[in-house]
Amino acid sequence: MFERDTLYIGGSHEKPSSSDMIDVYSPFTEERVGRVPEAHEADVDRAVTAARHAFEEGPWARSTPAERADVLDKLLLGLQMRSGDIASLISSEMGCPMSFAHAGQAFATTMVVEFYAQLARTFPFEETRPSMVGSALVRQEPVGVAAAIVPWNVPLFTIMLKLAPALAAGCSIVIKPAPETPLDAYLLADVLDEAGVPKGVVSILPGGRQMGEYLVTHPGIDKVGFTGSTAAGRKIAALCGERLRRVTLELGGKSAAIVCDDADFNEVIAPIVGAGTMNNGQACVAQTRILLPKSRYKEGVEALAAAVGALKVGDPSDFSTEIGPLVAERQRDRVLGYVAKGKAEGARCVVGGGRPKDFAKGYFVEPTLFADVDNKMTVAQEEIFGPVLCAIPYETEADAIRIANDSEYGLSGSVWTSDPKRGIEIARRIRTGTHNVNFFMMAMTGPFGGFKNSGLGRELGPEGLRAYLEPKTICLAPGIEP
Ligand code: NAD
Repeated sequence: MFERDTLYIGGSHEKPSSSDMIDVYSPFTEERVGRVPEAHEADVDRAVTAARHAFEEGPWARSTPAERADVLDKLLLGLQMRSGDIASLISSEMGCPMSFAHAGQAFATTMVVEFYAQLARTFPFEETRPSMVGSALVRQEPVGVAAAIVPWNVPLFTIMLKLAPALAAGCSIVIKPAPETPLDAYLLADVLDEAGVPKGVVSILPGGRQMGEYLVTHPGIDKVGFTGSTAAGRKIAALCGERLRRVTLELGGKSAAIVCDDADFNEVIAPIVGAGTMNNGQACVAQTRILLPKSRYKEGVEALAAAVGALKVGDPSDFSTEIGPLVAERQRDRVLGYVAKGKAEGARCVVGGGRPKDFAKGYFVEPTLFADVDNKMTVAQEEIFGPVLCAIPYETEADAIRIANDSEYGLSGSVWTSDPKRGIEIARRIRTGTHNVNFFMMAMTGPFGGFKNSGLGRELGPEGLRAYLEPKTICLAPGIEP
């Protein structure tokens, strides 16, 4: 049982303003695994005041990029040393299998820190450009005090996509973890203390939607970094728009995996199913629409059915488990609602489609494969966020590209072919922020984010650092050297 009675405010472990607590229940045992304070408006006020003071008066915003990189290095080391604890805690909070908890939660988080520590050392925070008369000193200054709002599915990774570039930039930041997964951020706070992040720079306030809105609209906030649903993203964008507040939005997805007619099904089907069901299907980038060529459709559906049917469902703490329970009862019911809708709209349920019989407890949904899906059906258009895949037949390559692009979302996608050049050409024509040829991976060095309703702005890469910077030009009269 993980219990804390303080909030991390401005780098100190402080008493919360109220006695309200957040209880965290294991999605597998349905028993309580943690309890931490719930932050409220008065805690936000304290955290933002500390962050503003640190930004305006403290050493962090005026430190050199190399000094900030040194602190990020220490943060990296601390996270690496605790990676086992981080993986176990996240798995117990939200039910992802331990294999994903290690690779997709703990290790991926450290990779983000490592990337921004290195980038801070090489990024051109200041450069001189020739001007019509004299020269221009172009600076990249920290945007100010940031608010980070994150979901429960990859809780620490989505924090780090904001925290690492914010720290590299010299910003202060107030982080709001989701109420489903408030525990792992306490391990982060411990590491931040050891890494020597100055007082005031980071606060962590677990809480709900209302507190999140209070934080987003707080007059002391300069920039909002949000990851979550498209519905909440719209609301936050509107709130930021009224205030001309900088905002980055990482939202939902409904990504298509295009299987070309020349693909080796023995090679590609297993990684496609993995990319569609990772994190129990609770991934914004999940490859859930699988586009199969009509000429090999039957063979493709059979191969998918075999792979989906063979997925091992079970205890998330067991390393051999491939599919664990969904985060909460309401999430399980939501996913089962989509399964019912798929059947009602005429999709053919080939595998799964219900709750597994072997578990008396836990918010499980059977890994499910729908075949004969029309891209207009609800299961092909809406983000299900569970282990539910749709096989969609297509006639020609142009048809496949049209179907892949026929989505309100534009986050990710993949193409699987024995001809890499063909794969790259197809990837060029898909309207998504990231795409993959013959594997599924995230590149720390490249911008990550969405076209269309999948978001606004980018995280990762140098673009992710620029999201926490304000460019500024100082015009220098002839003869003045910086
Ligand atoms: P959600 O939008 O319900 O909540 C996300 C976070 O925002 C939570 O911390 C929540 O408390 C907070 N929140 C909700 N409404 C708010 C408001 N009006 N003001 C301030 N804060 C608010 O999403 P969720 O169910 O927790 O997460 C699942 C969603 O996240 C999926 O749609 C998934 O695709 C998306 N996601 C996207 C990415 C990406 O990088 N694009 C990554 C992971 C998850």
